[in-house]
Amino acid sequence: MSLKRKWPKRERENPRNEPDLFAQLRSEIQAVREQGEPAQKNPSTFSQYLCDLCSTSHPISALKQCAVCGRWACPDCWTDTYYVCDSCGGIIAMKSIKL
Ligand SMILES: [Zn+2]
Ligand SMILES: [Zn+2]
Repeated sequence: MSLKRKWPKRERENPRNEPDLFAQLRSEIQAVREQGEPAQKNPSTFSQYLCDLCSTSHPISALKQCAVCGRWACPDCWTDTYYVCDSCGGIIAMKSIKL
């Protein structure tokens, strides 16, 4: 009688997928702006818009809208890794550590 040992199946390495992280974040973080809502115009200039985080003015091309909270962020307030503003990026980073 041969005792053939069954090896446990090798756990397949999970490709880092982020399941519904944005959906989860959106349910936790109150959106400041609707997606697609324009940035706030700086009333004292003609073509500058305000960063929703640090309130400095930038041309609209320099601002990006956060996919989670909808705030418009300047390059200084932007987390490119997650394509969100620094505020939401900090929350994602915290969550990633917990995971
Ligand atoms: Zn800013
Ligand atoms: Zn955000």
